[in-house]
Amino acid sequence: VELAHRVVTLALAEAFTISRETSTETEVVWVELRHDGVSGYGEAAPVDRYGETAASAAAFLDEAGEVVGDDPFALEAIHARLAERPGEQAAKAALDAALHDLCGKLVGLPVWRLLGLRRAGPPTSWTVWLGDPEDMARRAERVGSRFRRLKLKLGGRDGLDVERVRAVRSVTPLPLMVDVNEYWELDEAIENVAALAELGVEYVEQPLPAGDPGGARLKREAALPIYVDEDCHTLADVRECAERAHGINVKLAKSGGIREAVKMATSARSLGVGVMLGCMLESGLGIAAGAQVASLCDHVDLDGNLLLAEDPWPGVDFADGVQLPSEEPGLGVALVESPVDGSSEGR
Ligand SMILES: [Mg+2]
Repeated sequence: VELAHRVVTLALAEAFTISRETSTETEVVWVELRHDGVSGYGEAAPVDRYGETAASAAAFLDEAGEVVGDDPFALEAIHARLAERPGEQAAKAALDAALHDLCGKLVGLPVWRLLGLRRAGPPTSWTVWLGDPEDMARRAERVGSRFRRLKLKLGGRDGLDVERVRAVRSVTPLPLMVDVNEYWELDEAIENVAALAELGVEYVEQPLPAGDPGGARLKREAALPIYVDEDCHTLADVRECAERAHGINVKLAKSGGIREAVKMATSARSLGVGVMLGCMLESGLGIAAGAQVASLCDHVDLDGNLLLAEDPWPGVDFADGVQLPSEEPGLGVALVESPVDGSSEGR
C-alpha cells in the first residue's frame, strides 16, 4: 500500500466562534492509500485542544507508510501497530478512513454495507455558534426548516448562557441541545441545566472541564442528560465517562477512526450510556467517514462540511435533515477540484 498526503486549507462560509476560539478557516490533511491500482481517501481534522495540528498530523503520516503494511483488510493488525505510536488521533482517523474507503472500493460495497449497518442515522443538528443572545436567535431563525435540530454553542462566561437559549427558543420550535465546551463550574452547571430543562433543551454537552471532580455529582443532580466530548476520546475512556455522563460524543478525529468508533458505541450500549456522533470542521471526505456509522448513534452532529464556503468532496447526501452516506463503494465521495492555495505535499 502506497501512502500520500497533503495539507489543505478549507474556507468557512462564516466565522465560527466557540468558547475557546474564533475561526474563519481550518486546516485538514488529506490521505491517499493506493493498492492494486485503487485509491482510498481519508481526512484528518486535527483538534488543537489536544495538541494536534495539520503539521503534526502530516509529520506522523510521513512515517506511517510502513505501519499500514501490504494488506488493507488487516484492520485489526494495522490498528494494533498504530496504537504503538502515541497521539495523532486525527491522522490515525484519516488512515482508518482511507483503509475503509479502499476496502469498500476493492469489494464494490459502501462502507456502511461492509460494516453491516443501516444507511440512515438520525438527523444532524446545525450548529449555532457562540454570540450575543439576539445574534444567536437571528442566526437560528435563518435556519428555517432546513435542519431538524439545533446545537447551540454556549460558554460565554458572561452570565448570559441561559438567555442565549431563551432567545433562540423564542424564535424556533426545533429541538435544541447545547454544548458548553468545558466553560461552566459545578454549581453554575447544576443551576443552568435546571433552567435549560424549563426551556425544553434535550441534553447538555460537556458543561464541566474534562476530568472535573464534580462530574459524578453533576450526573446525579442534573435535570437533563449530560453528554461528554472533551472527556471521551477512545474506547479506554468510555467506562469512566459512564460514571460522569449519560452519554458520550464520539468523533472520529478523537477515536482514531471508524473501527474504534464502532467499539465505543458498543461499549457505551453495554454500560447503558447514550451515543452521539460529532465532527470537527471537515470537508465531505471527513463527514462521509462519520456518516457510515451514524445509524449506531442516538444523536448526530455532522454539519462540518455544511459550514464550509464550498465542499470539495461532495457525495454525502443531505436529505430531509439527515447526512446520508452514498450508495457508491467505499466512502462514496470524490474530489471535485484541487484547492487553490495552502496545500503542501508529502509522500
Ligand atoms: Mg463538543
